[in-house]
Amino acid sequence: MNYKNFPMVPRVVFGRGSFNQLNEIITPKRLNTKAPFIFLVDDVFKGKAWLTSRIPLSYDDKLLYISSEEEPKTSQVDAIVEGIILSIKERPSGIIGVGGGTIMDLAKAVSIMLTNEGTASDYQGWDLVKNPAIYHVAVPTISGTGAEVSRTTVLTGPEKKLGINSDYTPFNQVILDPELTKDIPKNQWFYTGMDCYIHCIESLNGTYLNTFSQSYGEKALDLCKEVFVNGKLTAEESQDKLMMASWHGGMSIAYSQVGVAHAMSYGLSYLLGTKHGIGNCIVFNYLEEFYPEGVKLFKDMMKRHNIDLPKGICAHLDDEHYDTMIKVALSLEPLWENAIGKDWKKTITYDRLKALYQKM
Ligand code: NAD
Ligand code: ZN
Repeated sequence: MNYKNFPMVPRVVFGRGSFNQLNEIITPKRLNTKAPFIFLVDDVFKGKAWLTSRIPLSYDDKLLYISSEEEPKTSQVDAIVEGIILSIKERPSGIIGVGGGTIMDLAKAVSIMLTNEGTASDYQGWDLVKNPAIYHVAVPTISGTGAEVSRTTVLTGPEKKLGINSDYTPFNQVILDPELTKDIPKNQWFYTGMDCYIHCIESLNGTYLNTFSQSYGEKALDLCKEVFVNGKLTAEESQDKLMMASWHGGMSIAYSQVGVAHAMSYGLSYLLGTKHGIGNCIVFNYLEEFYPEGVKLFKDMMKRHNIDLPKGICAHLDDEHYDTMIKVALSLEPLWENAIGKDWKKTITYDRLKALYQKM
């Protein structure tokens, strides 16, 4: 048995208003006055002075607003990196991502590609990155993905949707300021929050489960229940707890794996561009046969929060489309092995997945 030697985020700040400390945290990391910090900021914050006025720009620092309408692509990473290289004289001092999973993943990937040759798609896979990334910082503004703690950055490339999984991927610094999550539209709050809930269910019910993953997964699940089921929290308590749930959920899957919902939702995302949070919800809703209790509680939470999921998203698809989707889903072997066990190929068939997709 060879146990994973897992890198973790070495520095983290937690607290309401801690975003104000960004300047004092990054200043010692400035290499020189010509090596700027590059801020990648979700464009939902454009014109929102309560947030943008607190981004500490000095010398040649740059702020790039980025849309999270679509999930990150390898070509998008390459374009951002090229833009940075062409517009500044020296290698940047650091990359700071301010946003959700989309922006955090871009920040990780850009920081890796500034020190590694070629295109981002060359590094999709496990442990392909050769050189350490430049200093990179996450400031999450929505909670659930666990991207702030994970060892991967999920990218859609020309051939596949797959992460850059490497020891250089995790952030050097994370700033957890739950106050930044105050204005998220309710549906999005639910979808991204459920990503965390589903991480817990898939981790805790997987064959890869071990005490490390279980201890984080159980804590994250308890926090999710407080936030989405209990209903007695203040808005502030709920923001604080969901941010820590996301952290623990991410830690839980770091040492195990996700499962059926993620495998099938990757298929949807690859073919239809369905985003991670909502895609997971659409799939999970039909997974009683795999996660009976988890799905029951999920339906209850949807009711409590009046969430309607899109229906019939696969209605117009033809056989070729199903082929593509099912191939992507089945290619994620570790997810199935975690969910079902070593013999998963005996029960997880093409037709079974097709029947499930047809319900969605
Ligand atoms: P997201 O980053 O795409 O953001 C969702 C929406 O919320 C966007 O419209 C965004 O503009 C908006 N938003 C974010 N913060 C806001 C705020 N404070 N106020 C108002 N609106 C706000 O969504 P996400 O669910 O956080 O991330 C999904 C992405 O994360 C996917 O690309 C997925 O592949 C990736 N992911 C990565 C990992 C990992 O470990 N690297 C894990 C899970 C998911
Ligand atoms: Zn997820």
